[in-house]
Amino acid sequence: MRRLCLHGLWRMSAQTVIDSLEFIRTGQTLRGSLPVSGLSRLQDSLFDALGEVGFVVTGGYDVRRRPILTLDIHGALRLRCQRCLAPLDHTLRLVNTLLLADRAEVASGAPDDGDIEWIEASAELDVAGLIEDEIILSLPYAPRHAEGCCGQALERRRKEAEASPFARLAALKKELN
Ligand SMILES: [Zn+2]
Repeated sequence: MRRLCLHGLWRMSAQTVIDSLEFIRTGQTLRGSLPVSGLSRLQDSLFDALGEVGFVVTGGYDVRRRPILTLDIHGALRLRCQRCLAPLDHTLRLVNTLLLADRAEVASGAPDDGDIEWIEASAELDVAGLIEDEIILSLPYAPRHAEGCCGQALERRRKEAEASPFARLAALKKELN
């Protein structure tokens, strides 16, 4: 299936838009991946936009027979450390359950059920947008390396740069001179 990767456009791909209640009623599962570069609202937090985020969305019912979607999101992001601005590896492993509320429930103040999150049921629910929301909510407000570790990140990058063939060549030239 074709996936458009331009900001905004790829979201219109039929692949990630579902009829939410029908999806649940028929017990469907949607698996896929989204390019990190397409998660436009995330870009400010990232060091780079390499890689993909994998997801599994499953429709079902909770113990009270209410319609729910379970989101399972996994992948790796490179955030920007707010202290040293070097890359900071961040593993994504999110599982969340969302209750689907109908319009009447939303109008009356939505399901009053403590911790569970809810969204309004829709015949054209944008799963990619939901996944992006979940990732944004899960990210630390000001990501930083652990205390005292910023230098290590910089040192590792310096060593990586030195290990490149060009750097070794330069070092060899220096020795010969
Ligand atoms: Zn740092």
